[in-house]
Amino acid sequence: MSTQEYVCLRCSRVFPTCCRLSPGLEELCFPLSTQEKEDIQNHLQHSDFFVEQPNTADFIASMGRLLPDHQHKTRAIFALDTCHLRLKTLSDGKCILLQDDGCLLPRELRPFYCRLFPFWFYRGRLGYMAFSKCLAQQETVEVKNLLRLFRAEVTTLQEDFYSMLRNLGLND
Ligand code: SF4
Ligand code: SF4
Repeated sequence: MSTQEYVCLRCSRVFPTCCRLSPGLEELCFPLSTQEKEDIQNHLQHSDFFVEQPNTADFIASMGRLLPDHQHKTRAIFALDTCHLRLKTLSDGKCILLQDDGCLLPRELRPFYCRLFPFWFYRGRLGYMAFSKCLAQQETVEVKNLLRLFRAEVTTLQEDFYSMLRNLGLND
């Protein structure tokens, strides 16, 4: 294992990190599955960490872009004017579970999306979501170098990605 300080810790000193969204864009926050919500609720012993978010046209379009192979199911599961769950955020966009020393949750209880970010699978191929304020992406644009920076394994990312889809009911 590298002795270099973990990239997300370094990122938190210079950027808002991926645990904070731009206020006003809450509707586009990635959904939380019921299973994830229940696991976190059992761990925290309270439920003050998620909200019900209406499925807007912009949210459905965003999900379609993220999951082009699952557009049909995405439209069925996240039907317009019904709701999905998402993590609660504060007025400055910060996830309610973000503490001064990082996420309140142990890694294995964090939503799959949080565990994966910035990695993503597009049409079965490993890639990543471009985010200008991700320090790791400022240090490299090569997927293989990002894997090294995050000390991530492709097989684990694959498992997390397909578990996330399954939990959201999006697996074929
Ligand atoms: S649950 Fe944890 S990792 Fe995910 S956005 Fe919130 S603070 Fe960040
Ligand atoms: S994944 Fe990227 S944006 Fe998120 S904390 Fe790590 S380096 Fe920063």
